[in-house]
Amino acid sequence: MAAQQTERDWVFDTRELVRRPGTMREVSREVTTTEPMGTDVIAIPAGHPVQVGLRMESVVEGILATGSAQAAATGECVRCLDEVLEDVEVTFQELYAYPDRAAHHQQVGSRSGAEKDTSDEDEQRTLDGDLMDLEEVVRDAVVTALPFQPVCRDDCPGLCSECGARLADDPEHQHDVIDPRWSALAAMATPTDDDERT
Ligand SMILES: [Zn+2]
Ligand SMILES: [Zn+2]
Repeated sequence: MAAQQTERDWVFDTRELVRRPGTMREVSREVTTTEPMGTDVIAIPAGHPVQVGLRMESVVEGILATGSAQAAATGECVRCLDEVLEDVEVTFQELYAYPDRAAHHQQVGSRSGAEKDTSDEDEQRTLDGDLMDLEEVVRDAVVTALPFQPVCRDDCPGLCSECGARLADDPEHQHDVIDPRWSALAAMATPTDDDERT
């Protein structure tokens, strides 16, 4: 049945709390990702566990979700292309409004657009019946927390621009090559000499 399927996913049941302001429930769950969560360079891979701790509080407008999510992200060092493992732990707080409350909220917001309290609520989340879907909230928090340019270590020297060798393995590494700027000049100089001679 569906109950078995929802056991490990991002949807949490708020049934006991709906329309009962002041009540609260705490749950923790290991969610398995169905698709990568992160950016192109580093992400929690699909099929990996995310530890979610969640407190659901019933308030007048809906259910307030406060919690944390923790998982291991994998990526590639932008300098040497080695694998990067990064523990990511995020916290979040989000109000899931009752659909009728959310509609009211938006009307009020559009009538007095300059109101400060609503200016940062570009996206109002709503409950789907009794269900709260945390995936987008956690995804946004994870994307924000992950490094834009993951590196295997802060002082990773990267790869040799000539041959692609890992400079961390061979710090003395160098090549006896003419600087390409000089060889270009040399190539230009030769025909000019010939021209002058003829
Ligand atoms: Zn590296
Ligand atoms: Zn090299």
